Amino acid sequence: MATTFSEDELQPISIPEAIESVQRLIGEIVRKNKTLVDYYIHPKPTPTEIEGYHPRLQVLYSRCEILAALEIPKLTILVDDAAALVSAFLLPVIDQLLNAVHGVQQIFINHYDRKLEYREPYSAVYDALECRERQLKKFQGDQMRNPQRRLPESLTPAAPSAAEQSFCRFAVAFTNHRDHGKLAHVHPEELFKEEREKLLNSDGAYLSWDCPGCAFKLRYHVANSLAANILATDDVRSHTSVPEVEYRPSFLVKCHLYQRKSEDTDDNFTQHSRRTSDTTFGNDSRRSTTWEIPKRSSTIRRQSDARNPRVSNSFFFGGAKKTKLGLTERYVPVRAKSSTSTSKYGCPFCFVVGKEYGHMDYEHGRDLAEHIAAKHHVGRAPSALMLEKYMVGLDGRCAENVRRWDLNIKSK
Ligand SMILES: [Zn+2]
Ligand SMILES: [Zn+2]
Repeated sequence: MATTFSEDELQPISIPEAIESVQRLIGEIVRKNKTLVDYYIHPKPTPTEIEGYHPRLQVLYSRCEILAALEIPKLTILVDDAAALVSAFLLPVIDQLLNAVHGVQQIFINHYDRKLEYREPYSAVYDALECRERQLKKFQGDQMRNPQRRLPESLTPAAPSAAEQSFCRFAVAFTNHRDHGKLAHVHPEELFKEEREKLLNSDGAYLSWDCPGCAFKLRYHVANSLAANILATDDVRSHTSVPEVEYRPSFLVKCHLYQRKSEDTDDNFTQHSRRTSDTTFGNDSRRSTTWEIPKRSSTIRRQSDARNPRVSNSFFFGGAKKTKLGLTERYVPVRAKSSTSTSKYGCPFCFVVGKEYGHMDYEHGRDLAEHIAAKHHVGRAPSALMLEKYMVGLDGRCAENVRRWDLNIKSK
């Protein structure tokens, strides 16, 4: 059925073009089905095995729409190899379409007209789908071999201006499994009453994940040695006002915005930005007042299914370790106008689809959880790509290769 193209004949295709083309081809399959049904079956009722293709095609079309909504430039500064990743999510759609086209044609050949085997009514669509498949695979290969390929955290300013809040580069690195966080012990006198009670009831200790690039710090409870890493902690948080969302501290690390350090004043801001945008990340280990403070309404509980700690290479306590990410560009940001913003977290799900509703405006984990419950509930969940990258569970179910959720969105 298919026409074979050599590698040289394959025209390069962009991701938006490929998605649009696949959507158009789905429309063609629907029209072709209708034509054949009208010709061979109408006015008799359409058999369910043919009728059943329609909802399948609708689901595949919806998956294309969700991928089309992703803004590749924004995705590129959050996740590794963004365009190739979108391609990886589009390829299974094409594969299922090829199966569907083959299947429906076979039904007409077997039950209505043997000559269709030679006329191949779907051949043009089939060939076009195969071509898109090969173009995307080539695109992926080219992207992965590209010597100019850069880590997403290197595409964000080291110290963004207060006027343009952005996800911290270390939050981005963390999302992509590069944990450069510094660990510090939380002294007993710094603990809140609720936390002291927790220690009395369950032993353990509180550690602080300190961002090496900004003033962000996040404390979390460690109950045992296996769960000492923030990626493995069984410190699961929920809030009584948002029962449908629970998360681990690691999700907040992924969503933290660049927090200005106290020396980031207007007078020396540009100078500091130049310094920290050098090839080595900053190394501020001073105490900060930007703790993530558990609300009284929140509950912190242990989850017994956290059994798969992923131990980071950069796991160490305190110290003055510097981390190199091979950054080569210097960045001179827009001069900051004020440092009054208290926003600490952004919503990556809104960010990648260009939504405007306050995606960078959450002061506490609870505020972000409330936003997720309102805008990204199970019925309107983020794209499968984002669910996988941010390790999000829907009613506890994660993508196949995600062993444990950082954020769990539950049905009401
Ligand atoms: Zn940071
Ligand atoms: Zn959002």
